[in-house]
Amino acid sequence: MNEQPLYDVLIVGGSFAGLSAAMALGRSCRQVLIIDSGHPCNQQSPQAHNLLTHDGEPPAALLARSKEQVLRYPTVHFLEGRAVSGTKDAGVFEIMTDTNAVYRAKKLLFATGVTDIMPELSGFADCWGISILHCPYCHGYEVLGQETALLGNGAMAFEFCRLLLNWHKRLTLLTNGQCTLTEEELQQLRRFDVHIVEQELSGFRHREGRLQAVLFRDGTELPMEAVYTKTAFKQHSAIPEQMNCTLTEGHGFIQVDDLQRSSVPGIFAAGDNTTFFRAISGAIAAGGKAGACINAELSEEAFKVE
Ligand SMILES: Cc1cc2nc3c(=O)[nH]c(=O)nc-3n(C[C@H](O)[C@H](O)[C@H](O)COP(=O)(O)OP(=O)(O)OC[C@H]3O[C@@H](n4cnc5c(N)ncnc54)[C@H](O)[C@@H]3O)c2cc1C
Repeated sequence: MNEQPLYDVLIVGGSFAGLSAAMALGRSCRQVLIIDSGHPCNQQSPQAHNLLTHDGEPPAALLARSKEQVLRYPTVHFLEGRAVSGTKDAGVFEIMTDTNAVYRAKKLLFATGVTDIMPELSGFADCWGISILHCPYCHGYEVLGQETALLGNGAMAFEFCRLLLNWHKRLTLLTNGQCTLTEEELQQLRRFDVHIVEQELSGFRHREGRLQAVLFRDGTELPMEAVYTKTAFKQHSAIPEQMNCTLTEGHGFIQVDDLQRSSVPGIFAAGDNTTFFRAISGAIAAGGKAGACINAELSEEAFKVE
């Protein structure tokens, strides 16, 4: 016999989206278990920005305070651990963790985020989130006036350059090999004095993640303080796909509707794992919505005549 209680909701991922959902559910008196492995995507960033009332605070401090507030609701429980698989049996969801423990619930929320894939360039991972940046809204203001580059090529690089010129009047485009922008795009960038460098990179020189120079394969280097780029990424957890949640074509986000419902009844998803718009505010909003929608679904089901 399974000794585990049947929770109303299991939340896999206890960062911004997961904690926000847990708050809505805790305040709805739902029995909730959050399972979290403790690796939010922005953990290396010294500060988080573009977040009302918390602008400039360390992400870890924001999460610690959020967790403390959410766990004041006695029906919300938190487990540090990694979920490794999931099943649905007779209308009950089961999640197994890396310690072989099994937890059961009526509803499941994936707030598992995504994992950024670091390119094999020396120093890149050390600088990620500190001086190698993914987003000007999050970090652009802090590097205004610094020697700045964009690492990218083709149409993506052109569009990203156009955006970045709002923050950085002097910008270098590092194409890391032959430039694949069109002649028209290049002409437009030249109008804004974007300096284009096609040399292949070998890595980055830095001190504790603070960039000092871009290093090229031919042994030369270029002094640099901030680099933007878009990395490849993948779902942080393979369980949603394993449980047959449909992923979107191209980026592989968990497909959700307006109520954060995945393609599998009873499974919800919220936060970075569902959207290209990556921001703490967005994850908090989506998590809060998921919490309310899950509660509404549970209420509706409790009302149904057997
Ligand atoms: C470097 C960087 C800097 C950023 N800076 C900012 C900023 O300044 N301002 C801003 O608004 N946004 C910023 N963002 C974006 C912001 O961090 C994300 O939008 C936000 O963290 C998404 O929250 P989330 O809860 O969806 O996912 P995450 O915060 O990534 O959290 C996912 C959680 O799920 C857990 N998890 C995953 N799989 C499992 C599993 N199998 N079992 C248990 N737990 C699991 C992870 O350990 C993690 O704790 C930044 C992003 C990056 C990459």
